[in-house]
Amino acid sequence: MPHRERHRTERIGWLRAAVLGANDGIVSTASLVVGVAAADATRHDVLVAGVAGLVAGAMSMAAGEYVSVSSQADTERADLERERAELATDPTSELAELAGIYEKRGLDPSLAAQVARQLTTHDALAAHARDELGHSDALSARPVQAGLASAGTFAAGAAMPLLITVVAPGAYLIPAVAGASLGFLALLGGLAAYVGGAGATRGALRVTFWGALAMALTAGVGALFGTVA
Ligand SMILES: [Zn+2]
Repeated sequence: MPHRERHRTERIGWLRAAVLGANDGIVSTASLVVGVAAADATRHDVLVAGVAGLVAGAMSMAAGEYVSVSSQADTERADLERERAELATDPTSELAELAGIYEKRGLDPSLAAQVARQLTTHDALAAHARDELGHSDALSARPVQAGLASAGTFAAGAAMPLLITVVAPGAYLIPAVAGASLGFLALLGGLAAYVGGAGATRGALRVTFWGALAMALTAGVGALFGTVA
C-alpha cells in the first residue's frame, strides 16, 4: 500500500471518532438545554444545566474511552508477555510459525524460512508482535490520548448549543438551539459518512433523525415537568 494511502486510512479513523464524539456532545447537550428550557427555566438555569451536562458528558466519555482502551492495552501487553515466554521456551516452533505466516502471505517456503530467520535474528519479539499478533505502532492503544480526544470532541460538540443558548432571544431559545443543532448534526453526519465512503445524505438524515427524536422527547419531558412543578 503506497505510503500516502496508509496515512489517509489512519486519518479517516481519527476523523470518524472525532465526528462521532462531537455528535454525542451536540445531541446530549442540545437535548438537555431544550428539555430544561421547555420546563420554563430561566436562561441562567438552562446554562447551568448545560455546562454541567457538558462537563459530565466529557468526563464520562473520557472515562469510558480510557477504560476501554486501557483494557485493550492490557490485552496487548499480556499477549506480548506470552509471546516472549513462548519465544524463550520454544524458539524452533516459533520460527516455523513465523515462516508459516509468510508462506500464507504468498512467499515461497524457502524464502519464507529465510525471511523468518533473518527477522528473528534481528528482533524476534517485534516480528511476532507485528506479523503474528498484528500489533502496530500506529494502532497501539494509547488510553490517555484516546480519553482526551474523546472528551475534547464531546466538549467541542456540546459548546455549540450552549453558545446558541447565550445569544438566542429568550422567546426563540428552543427553536434556535434545536435548529442550529440539527443543522450541525446534518453537516457532521454527512461528513462522517462521506469520509467513511458511504452516502453523505443518508448519513446526514440518520443522525438528524435521532437528534430530532432526542430533542423532542426531552422537550416533552421538560414541558411535562414544567406544568406539574
Ligand atoms: Zn509466535
